[in-house]
This record gives sequence, C-alpha cells and structure tokens, in this order.
Amino acid sequence: MKTVHVHGERDVRLQEAPPPSLLRGPEASGRDAIVRVVAACVCGSDLWTYRGFREPAHDRGMGHEFVGVVEEVGHAVRTVRPGDFVVEPFYVADGTCAVCRAGFSAHCLHGGLWGADIAGEGGSGGTQTEHVRVPLADGTLCVVPPGSTGEDLLPGLLALSDVMGTGHHAAVSGGVRPGSTVVVVGDGAVGLCAVIAARRLGAERIVAMSRHADRQALAVDLGATDVVAERGEEGIARVKDLFDGIGPDVALECVGSVEAMQQSMRTVRPGGNVGFVGVPVTGGEVSVRTMFGTNVGVRGGMATVRDYMDELLPEVLSGAIEPGRVFDVQLPLDEAAEGYRLMDERTAIKVMLRP
Ligand SMILES: [Zn+2]
Repeated sequence: MKTVHVHGERDVRLQEAPPPSLLRGPEASGRDAIVRVVAACVCGSDLWTYRGFREPAHDRGMGHEFVGVVEEVGHAVRTVRPGDFVVEPFYVADGTCAVCRAGFSAHCLHGGLWGADIAGEGGSGGTQTEHVRVPLADGTLCVVPPGSTGEDLLPGLLALSDVMGTGHHAAVSGGVRPGSTVVVVGDGAVGLCAVIAARRLGAERIVAMSRHADRQALAVDLGATDVVAERGEEGIARVKDLFDGIGPDVALECVGSVEAMQQSMRTVRPGGNVGFVGVPVTGGEVSVRTMFGTNVGVRGGMATVRDYMDELLPEVLSGAIEPGRVFDVQLPLDEAAEGYRLMDERTAIKVMLRP
C-alpha cells in the first residue's frame, strides 16, 4: 500500500509499505483494529516537519487524522466491529484509566500520541495511507452511527479527528460562555473551528484575525462578528478598540508561535483568559510577570479531542455545526505532495487526501 513520507525539507514522497496486520501471538493483547482509510488530511502541525523545523520519523509515514471503515479487530475488542465507520483522534487512549476518566484522554496513562510506540500494544503508522493499525481500538475509535456517513458528511467527520475538537478545546480552556466576547488569533483550520466553537458556546461577539479575504469570509459565515486584518501592535490596538479600548474577555490562540501567544495575552482584557491550542514548536513562553500585572489567565494544551466527540458528533451529523467547511481542497493520496505545497503556501486552508 502507499504511504506518504517527508524525506527532508519540502520533500514529500509516496512509498510502498506492507499493509499492517493485527498483533498476534501469546504476547498480543488483542485490543487493536485494522481500519481502511476513507479520508485523511494534512495538518498544520505536519507543516512543521515539511518546513524542516522538526525531524521526520523516517520509520513511519505522515499524518495523524483519518476516518475509515473497520476491517478486522483483535479478540479483546468489544465496542468496535468490522464494518463500523470510525473517527480516530490524533492519539491512542484506553478510555478507562484514571486520566481518561478525568476527561483528559489525550494524556491516557496507557496510550500516546498517534504513531508513538504504546507499551505492550505496538505502534501505529502514519494515517496518510490506505490501511492503519489502531492500538487500543475500544478507547481510541469513535463509532459513527450506521447510515450517517455519506460523502457530504465526510469532511465534518474528518474535522472531528483533530481541528474541530482542538478549536473547541481552545474555547473551553478559555472559559467561553454565553455572552462572552472573544478574539481568535489564527485563521487556519483550527482558528476557524474555534470560531464555530465560540459561537456554539454562546459568545456574543467573535473577532477573527485574518488577512486573507477567503478566510475572512468563511470566518464570518461560521459565526465571526468582526474581522481584523491588522497584525502586531496595530492588530492589538484595533481589537482593543472594538471593546471600549480594554479588549475582549477571551483570546483563543490557534497558531503556536511566540507572536500569536503574545498577541493573545496582550489583546485580552485585564482579568480575561487565553485558551491556547497552537503547538508551541517555535517557543511561545508565557510571561508570569505579565500574568501578574494583568490577571490574565492562560490555559490550554493538547486538545483531548476523543472526549469531545460524543458531544460534537451529533451536531456534525445534524448539520448544526459545519466544521467540514475548512476543507477547501480534496486530492487523491497520490497527489499528497501538492496538498502539502498548497497548505505551506496557505493557498489551501485544509487538504483532504483520499486513498
Ligand atoms: Zn486512559
């Protein structure tokens, strides 16, 4: 089967790999599943590898998001069956340990990030491929009710794999509630999903910071009430101006850069909150002195997307929320390199790859 690999800076190639199989033998826990990938996608965080900021893991392919159909399950799998249509979060979790029960399955005691070698359960390859092996299938996979997986719903379901849950995590971490005023820093797929999440949680006013006309228009469509195109000092001043010069209640940081975090902390009003979900690859250190001087709270981190699926899935199926709209390009898996290029150049918001 074909798998997508990044070999070096801006060098994406398809490689042949043997299809995965269930772990067998006396040591195997029987808790894994083989899933045929129906749709996968390129993540903003994949671009850190593509741009050379992060070393690719050469032993496995790229990607950590997908939806697909279960083909085979281990003998100990209870809740997932062959034929089920499933959404995968970008990590592996058992769903039963103390941390999972506390609602933070992204930090499962027995799981790990997608691709990591899970103790006793083996690893998982990249998802930009044709078939994947999913360790701890019961806790990891979310089964979509039968009959609700038409082509038109695919983008929305795929968004639950990462970006929608991540945008939601920003809004939850930032304490968005009915009547809140919110600024969203970042106009990528996560930022746009954060707009959806803020609106869904009842925010009264949502400012999207974006310089791209198409993203501005989509943000407004998804619930933004204002758009600010300026950046840096000018951007901070413009947003503050919209809220009596003091800034909104909540800033949602959806980029992961030092600049985005500083912008978020300095835009929000005294006593407000920053909900952050951008992967801090290039830093993003928080100044405790600034927090002391402003009473601004900072909370967030890796989105615990599997925990949010039960809540968000019905709304995707009913059309109440439309996170699938962030997918503006669909390509066959063979053209993955083009997908990376479009996202790197920001001519695509989010690229879906179809094996
Ligand atoms: Zn767990």
